[in-house]
Formats: sequence, C-alpha cells, structure tokens
Amino acid sequence: MKPFAVCEGVFQVGGPELTAPDDCCIYLVDLGKPILIDAGAGRGMRKLLQNLEDIGYSPRDISLVVLTHCHIDHVGGAPYLAEECGLPLAIHELDAPPVEEGDARRTAASWYGIDLPPLTIKHRLRGEEGEWDAGATLRWLHTPGHTPGSISLYVNNGLYTVLFGQDIHGPFYASFGSDLDAWDASMRKLIDLRADILCEGHFGVVRPASELRRYIEDYLRNYGRL
Ligand SMILES: [Zn+2]
Ligand SMILES: [Zn+2]
Repeated sequence: MKPFAVCEGVFQVGGPELTAPDDCCIYLVDLGKPILIDAGAGRGMRKLLQNLEDIGYSPRDISLVVLTHCHIDHVGGAPYLAEECGLPLAIHELDAPPVEEGDARRTAASWYGIDLPPLTIKHRLRGEEGEWDAGATLRWLHTPGHTPGSISLYVNNGLYTVLFGQDIHGPFYASFGSDLDAWDASMRKLIDLRADILCEGHFGVVRPASELRRYIEDYLRNYGRL
C-alpha cells in the first residue's frame, strides 16, 4: 500500500500496511505547515521517510510531531524523528512521564519486545485543549480513557472536519491507567464535534459523518455505555 491523501491537506503516511506491521496509523496534516500525528513503533522508519518522500516531503519540512498517547506503537518511532531528524515532540503531560522515563510497562514496549530509550519531550500539553498552526488551525482535545493523557485532534480543511482519534476503541487495562467513565465522556465530546472523516489509529479512515458517529456509538454500546 502507498501513502495517500485522505482529503486535501491530510495524508496517511504510515500504518500496518504502509510502514511496519506493529505501527499505528501515521497521518500528516499539511494545510501550509506540515505536522505529523504519531510515529509508529519504530521498525518502519526507513519506509516512513520513503513514504514522505513519495508524496513530496522531507523530514525537515515537518514542524512538529504530535504523539496522541504514550504507547509504543505510537511513540516508538519518536526517538528517530527527534534525534536523527531534529523534530520537536509534543504529548499530553499526563502521558509524558512513561515516554520520558522509557517505562516499558506503561508504554506497552515490553509487549512488543521493543526498547524505548527515554525521550525528550519539547512540548508538554497541559489542560483540556489547545491548538497549533498547520496552515489551518489543528486543535487537540484531551480525551482520556485508553490512557490518562490520550488526546484527539481535529482540523477543518475548508471542506471537511477531520478527526484524528487514535485508539479511541481501547483496549482498556488497569496497567494502562485506563478509565471507562473518562472514556465515555471523551467519546461524547468527539461525537459532538460532528466531524466528517475519522482517521483512526489502527483501523484507517472512516467516513462519512454518519459512519463516524456509528463507529464511536458501536464502541460505546459494546462497553454498555449506550
Ligand atoms: Zn494505545
Ligand atoms: Zn495503538
């Protein structure tokens, strides 16, 4: 599978079929200022750089790497992007300690048999929401549940509102610090955004808006919350 445009200004550049089997879906938002969302598990970095090149980007073009939460399938590529490519990393402050400490349990690195070196986080995200300039405004929302510091992002490209909801499907484990009540509230926040396209962390792209809503509601139903 090749990297592709989800819609104008949004690309999928990594994922199990695009970079390496362990990787989460990796997205690039560029409405004038490229921002990378998540980094994969780290075994597919050469492929990720190739994919970026295939759609006309070099790592130097990227202004920021946003990590949606602390799990290794999302952050394992971050050491490479930070050290080899010099890119700044952002993660919510509640999920920062496991990656800053290279905690193999809380990052689930031990599950994957991957070593995560301690990472330097440039931007610790605080509070409930914030935004960056990606050419258009890329907003983040604190959406705890899967982990305490999980975030979701959204952007409007002029035509569509695109929601990046990595691992909103779970799973939920005590060792992750998961919280189903917090997750329930987070999912309702995401439904209220009325986004048109969902870029999911492991299941790719869901659209249109009615399917996106059904996708989240199906998970709420599965966990007895609807
Ligand atoms: Zn996860
Ligand atoms: Zn994941």
